[in-house]
Amino acid sequence: MRSHNSNQIVDDYVYAASRRIDKLKNHIDQELTSWIEDTQNTLAKLQGKQQAVVESEQRKINAMLTETQNILNHAWVLSEQLYQTMQQEDKLETKICPNCSYENAANCKFCIKCGTRLSE
Ligand SMILES: [Zn+2]
Repeated sequence: MRSHNSNQIVDDYVYAASRRIDKLKNHIDQELTSWIEDTQNTLAKLQGKQQAVVESEQRKINAMLTETQNILNHAWVLSEQLYQTMQQEDKLETKICPNCSYENAANCKFCIKCGTRLSE
């Protein structure tokens, strides 16, 4: 009888211990599942924020590209105007030789090609 009782005690102990282990296992499973869900939610939020930042930066870059293109177009128009103005000034500041048609600078008194006197 004593042996039977002691076996029973051991069985009870093992049973109680395995129930505690099962409880702990369930608890750990729940904790882990909850933690994984929280982490996934946090990651999804971060990805959303990151996406919003990327889109915002992309809009800024697009706006800057448009502005840069406008500035380049304006600069091109200005340089074209400057070029035309310089060409007109070049024409104003030359004296065409009546003899050889050479384009002398405006301050020349004689043609540097043929020596013909140039009118003032
Ligand atoms: Zn000449």
